[in-house]
Amino acid sequence: MPLRVFNTLANEKQDFTPVRPGRIGIYVCGITVYDLAHIGHARMLSAFDVAVRFLRWAGWEVAFVRNWTDVDDKIIRRALERGQDPGQLSEHFIEECRRDMQSLGVMVADVEPKATDHIPEMQALIARLIERGNAYASQGDVYFAVRSFAGYGKLSKRHLDDLRAGARVEPGEQKRDPLDFALWKAAKPGEPASVTWESPWGPGRPGWHIECSAMCQKYLGTTFDVHGGGKDLVFPHHENEIAQSEAASGQELAHYWLHNGFITMDAEKMSKSLGNVRTIRDLLAHWDGEALRAFLLSTHYRHPINFTEAAVLEADRRVDYFYESLAKGDAYLAQKKLAGRSGSEPLGEHVLAFREAMEDDFNTAEALARLERLYGTLNARIDAKARPDEVAALLQTARALSGVLGLASRAPLEAVRQRRQIAAGRKGIDPKWVEERIGARIAARKAKDFVRADAIRAEVAARGVELRDGPGGTEWRVVL
Ligand SMILES: [Zn+2]
Repeated sequence: MPLRVFNTLANEKQDFTPVRPGRIGIYVCGITVYDLAHIGHARMLSAFDVAVRFLRWAGWEVAFVRNWTDVDDKIIRRALERGQDPGQLSEHFIEECRRDMQSLGVMVADVEPKATDHIPEMQALIARLIERGNAYASQGDVYFAVRSFAGYGKLSKRHLDDLRAGARVEPGEQKRDPLDFALWKAAKPGEPASVTWESPWGPGRPGWHIECSAMCQKYLGTTFDVHGGGKDLVFPHHENEIAQSEAASGQELAHYWLHNGFITMDAEKMSKSLGNVRTIRDLLAHWDGEALRAFLLSTHYRHPINFTEAAVLEADRRVDYFYESLAKGDAYLAQKKLAGRSGSEPLGEHVLAFREAMEDDFNTAEALARLERLYGTLNARIDAKARPDEVAALLQTARALSGVLGLASRAPLEAVRQRRQIAAGRKGIDPKWVEERIGARIAARKAKDFVRADAIRAEVAARGVELRDGPGGTEWRVVL
């Protein structure tokens, strides 16, 4: 089956045809760094991360660019509030965001350009738009003349006349038409020198939209394959990117426009005014990053997803099941003295089923369901004492396909322990207390006081801790 993607531009699912055979250039609008990233950002990050991982696994050569918007009104405002330099503030939040991304298993992109490193490219693009009659300077600002670009509205399916009704000119703006948007913003009094650049139109800084137009084309060419981002960016950000870039080059900017859906929090829109914005950092204090990732991937990226504790817990259990299964498979092969040996060959039908789901517009929800069936088979075959090479093949395939989704890639026993710490913290269980109880139980058993040993098991079980006796001693886990 060929790769199919839902293209916002065409408003339908289409067969994917690359600009250059075998290669895919992807640009995703990254984060405007003025605060900690929230779960909505996590959705965008994981949706495109999994797409890139899958495409590479499926044999495509992918060039993946995800930018940092490090100059913007919000950054400047926040920096001034804090008495900080905007550059320092954005650097700080880039680093914080990188930490969160690592916890979520989001890979570093091939290029992660920062807007402030590309001012000359933005200025060149603006100059070209003025030269071609698509933009005009006005008292230190430069505006894009929306009516000069015939295709305006083609992505968001809006008509200029409808837009005109809602458009207004902000105080201080000198636009010819209320629809026009800023490409260059004149420096305002009190703005730090670090966010002011000299230009042919006077000192100032770029508008948000032109930043992405300059960065995506610098790294991926005039016309490239996929441009992505959250649904909220369709209008005006992506519409404006198209207008600027295509007016300047006379060529299409990107063939496919992919947009991920929103997140609601307990069925409410996430917003600052409702006070229900959950940062990734805040969630990582209670949940394993991998559980959050599995939760985000459990719904198709285009659909809305509702964040509830119950839904994340379900995803957490799924991750648990994957690691427990891998650990069980490893133990089975170790017992058969086949540890580390690879299976005869990957299991065609499972690989195909997984691939089909992902080629259908990156349907991670279906891919996860199919992967779970593979884990089910793995467990069933171990329980049936299947031949070791069969188990080895199942194990290897389960690992490979999980890895494509960025899941279950840690050493299983280590992951189980790390995840146990997080679950214990969430439930207020002190690991030292559990270890102490395990010690007391071992002592009771040594003294042949089995009544007391059983009482200790029941005592920890009442707190949600399960004890497992094995050849290597007693392990414990938090019941999820
Ligand atoms: Zn952008």
